[in-house]
Amino acid sequence: MVIKQVELQHVCGITSKLPDTGQVEVAFAGKSNVGKSSLINALMNRKSLARTSAQPGKTQTINYYHINEEMYLVDLPGYGFARASEEVKAKWGKLIEDYLHQSKMLHAVFLLIDIRHAPSNNDRIMYDWILRNGYQPIIIATKLDKIKRSQLQKQIKLIRETLEVEKDTIVIPFSAETKQGREEIWNLIDEIRSD
Ligand code: GDP
Repeated sequence: MVIKQVELQHVCGITSKLPDTGQVEVAFAGKSNVGKSSLINALMNRKSLARTSAQPGKTQTINYYHINEEMYLVDLPGYGFARASEEVKAKWGKLIEDYLHQSKMLHAVFLLIDIRHAPSNNDRIMYDWILRNGYQPIIIATKLDKIKRSQLQKQIKLIRETLEVEKDTIVIPFSAETKQGREEIWNLIDEIRSD
């Protein structure tokens, strides 16, 4: 995809009605600080359009980035911020579940996992929500530049085993520093769009 135009078109909070975009949406989920904003900025070739987390977990909105006026990258709120109150946690949960449940145009959900660590309990919950709503999650293993090449296979295996993913589940290593993995992600999105 050649990025000609990007616009943050909808920002939805807990009380907003989710928009009927009428165009393909692909969504990104992951815990706070996993590198979601960095990934979305890298996909859009923007430095800082998607917020990077100065205050992790603070902004609980779903942000719709309109790409070339033809599709949307949907940034779901980051979860798992330990200091958030139970009330706040319940709210982000509902927001994400409502989106997964209601969006008519959602074609794929990417789940971001930090390549250095085993997925957390919240990651497993998120993975199951995605599955239960009828989507096969695509995993993006973030911060690839932070591990040695020799650790790559071991870390991917750890992610696959902890989430108990199915055999054909795709795991794409990605680095926002080097942009490694960017083309692969866009190729996949292009495929998803033309399905
Ligand atoms: P978000 O909360 O998931 O949106 O995470 P951010 O994109 O704000 O990233 C959290 C922190 O990790 C920031 O300090 C980023 O600079 C850093 N970060 C994100 N992606 C990468 C990456 O691929 N490599 C490295 N080295 N740092 C990253």
